[in-house]
Amino acid sequence: MEPYISLQGVSFSYHRPDGEIEALSDISFTVSKGEFVSLVGPSGCGKSTILSILAGLNAAEAGTITINGDVSFGYMFQQDLLLPYNTIWKNISLGPAIHKSLNSETKKRLEELLYKYGLSQFKDKFPGQLSGGMRQRAALIRTLALNPDTLLLDEPFSALDYQTRLLVADDIGKIIRQENKTAILVTHDLSEAISLSDKIIVLSGRPSRVVKIMDINIPCKEKGSLAVRKHPAFGEYFQILWKEMNPPDERTA
Ligand code: ADP
Ligand code: MG
Repeated sequence: MEPYISLQGVSFSYHRPDGEIEALSDISFTVSKGEFVSLVGPSGCGKSTILSILAGLNAAEAGTITINGDVSFGYMFQQDLLLPYNTIWKNISLGPAIHKSLNSETKKRLEELLYKYGLSQFKDKFPGQLSGGMRQRAALIRTLALNPDTLLLDEPFSALDYQTRLLVADDIGKIIRQENKTAILVTHDLSEAISLSDKIIVLSGRPSRVVKIMDINIPCKEKGSLAVRKHPAFGEYFQILWKEMNPPDERTA
């Protein structure tokens, strides 16, 4: 099968008056349609830069990016970026309103998403009246409002406390699978990556190179990330990937 999204030998540096920051060096990987792929690597290695290149916000300086067919991207970030003085309904319908596509069909779809993901009763509330987890669900619905095929998720759970983070990551993983989206998740949390992904790309420190690409085959994936975390294969994947991310010479240095 032809890959949906493919990066081949992508390199990128930030050019600043005070010098050059080489962020990406020869990055290659592919993403299939409907696949959930995670990028893991140390802080500052270039993960967000990869998403910005995919989104067209930065242009690769070397290498090629191939996208087969029409791919529309939706984004989700660490901060939910909901507008505080607008209701949840206003927030999630803003995208379609700007794109002049807030018709009865879109409204129905948004109502369905709110209902499906437990936010119907909160649509007239303001973001500050919701829990962190509910806000992230609302942010995901806002992202889904324009019906993108591919979600670029940049550490969307990092601002949440650990318990909430587990639950929200589980929720959001399920929603993305149910909605048949392709997803590229940036995280520095290996457990989170294993519990959500079909494939993990391990990146080195800056300039980022691909250290390992690993398919994650854990049979109970559709049951959600909490079930995956309990499966024996989870620990095995964790061990292998942990070693890739923490080579012995770096640990003792
Ligand atoms: P990550 O998301 O993995 O934490 P980033 O992709 O944000 O890493 O950044 C990679 C490197 O590029 C970091 O050293 C960061 O400081 C630098 N960087 C990111 N954005 C810019 C920018 N706009 N200008 C200059 N340097 C940047
Ligand atoms: Mg980042």
